[in-house]
Amino acid sequence: MSYSAHSPSRRLGLVAACLAALGTLAAQPAAAQQPVLNLYSARHYQTDEALYANFTKATGIKINRLDGKEDELVERIHNEGTASPADILITVDAARLEVADNLGLFAPLQSKLLDERIPAGLRTPTWVAFSTRARVIVYNKSAVKPAQVQTYADLAKPAMKGQVCMRSGSHPYNLSLGAAVIAHEGEAQAEAWARGLVANFARGPKGGDTDQIKAVAAGECGVTISNTYYLARMMRSTKPDDQQAMSAVGIVWPNQASWGTHVNVSGAGVLKNAPNKANAVRFMEYLASNEAQAYFADGNNEWPVVKGSVAANPTLVAMGTFRPDALPIGDLAKTTVAAQKVFDRAGWK
Ligand code: FE
Repeated sequence: MSYSAHSPSRRLGLVAACLAALGTLAAQPAAAQQPVLNLYSARHYQTDEALYANFTKATGIKINRLDGKEDELVERIHNEGTASPADILITVDAARLEVADNLGLFAPLQSKLLDERIPAGLRTPTWVAFSTRARVIVYNKSAVKPAQVQTYADLAKPAMKGQVCMRSGSHPYNLSLGAAVIAHEGEAQAEAWARGLVANFARGPKGGDTDQIKAVAAGECGVTISNTYYLARMMRSTKPDDQQAMSAVGIVWPNQASWGTHVNVSGAGVLKNAPNKANAVRFMEYLASNEAQAYFADGNNEWPVVKGSVAANPTLVAMGTFRPDALPIGDLAKTTVAAQKVFDRAGWK
């Protein structure tokens, strides 16, 4: 049911087909022999298939998966209300999980196992993180010296005039980063930072993180900010273009001498109206297992939240260690609305 490679119109058709399939499923009497779990997923990674198949093999619980875009899934669950067949929402970015939480979509989550396995800062009372990604500085080695770009604040300094490429300020990845800046340095400082960044833009915001990395590699700009899994993906790529791009750029773990590198998450929560709550909790617990954690590490180059599982991906191991921001992910998520206002005022489109 994955459609991520298709055109928008084809996507909509497939979503409709998927939703219809789930609708039929929900309308059936509860006499189905096999226990089921209805998973709404905004993760479009091939390796997730194996993850889900293994869960079914281990538990006998069949997974009905509905893939969709993050915002569409949240809206769908909201509109379905008490009739929703959805048991779990799994998605990326704390800001999006917060939107779902604010709509009251999640049920309180109680699992001793999850409390034990997942670090406290990566859990909230309703949703938990299963993997993390860091937002790092990427610079062109012939245009910028690493000493010039050791912090997020450095990118807003006059020395970087005309050097900065960024994706949209409305994108959740940047909103979550903005939330971290607000949490540590206050709103006024965050706005000054955003204004400085905008003043340093080499061009207007466009494209995704990979586009920014390629623009830096090509010398279109000197520096950008990207999620680590995009970098790891290019490092593991056998395409000559990717290899060439990676040889032109350097990576800095930002803010190591202050509040640490901003990290975001991929996470999930059990839904308030879940028809199969017990199965849903079992699935959440499965995602915290060593096996599932290794899939997160290797499949999408994300850091697993359970220690040790990182060994599944040598590229992640080779990227080394860094000090992540210790801000609880739930607190961060709540500040993303303020971040959007700050970016709007600063003109970061
Ligand atoms: Fe992404």
